[in-house]
Amino acid sequence: MKTMTCKQLRGACDREFHANTFEEMAELSKKHGMEMFQKGDKDHLEAMSKMKELMQKPEAMKEWFDNKRKEFDALPDDKIKMNNKEIATTFLKMASSGKVKDAYDKYVHPDFFHHNAYFKGDRETLMKGMEENSKQFPDKKYETLRSLEEGDLVTVHGKVILSSDKVFSVIHVFRFKDDKIIEEWEASQEDIKDSPNENGIF
Ligand SMILES: [Zn+2]
Repeated sequence: MKTMTCKQLRGACDREFHANTFEEMAELSKKHGMEMFQKGDKDHLEAMSKMKELMQKPEAMKEWFDNKRKEFDALPDDKIKMNNKEIATTFLKMASSGKVKDAYDKYVHPDFFHHNAYFKGDRETLMKGMEENSKQFPDKKYETLRSLEEGDLVTVHGKVILSSDKVFSVIHVFRFKDDKIIEEWEASQEDIKDSPNENGIF
């Protein structure tokens, strides 16, 4: 997906268009131009009459079109900004599928610290612990069941399947800083076979 504005496409306003190809982009711009034309918008009418003048000269028109296409091709792809909930659930999914280092590189703040009782509280130790766990349970699966966001906190309730007879309900709480996870708390319960709870743990 790339972004161009109405003005960049010989229009008259800062309206943004998002498209995957230059043809799509030109089509969106044309549609918007027609809408503005029907509204009788003065600036767009002026821009359109200039465009009509250009269309009288096929050579110049072609040159303009070719240059715009080059400009479009050179544009970087739009960065899709993830919200904190998406970061939290993507982090858990990635880390659980064995890509622990990648998940940390992408989503975990350099000053990260945590409250897991089984490990020292720093970033490196928990990452190593998770990598160890991935090796021990290579078929581990993670599924997010629900997530909640408030302020800089995100809570994710998930199902962790370590192996066919080892299933856990895990609740992670993440605190965010600068779009990265900076602090983490967690609580878990095993899905035991002889539980008296007829509702199950999920
Ligand atoms: Zn416009």
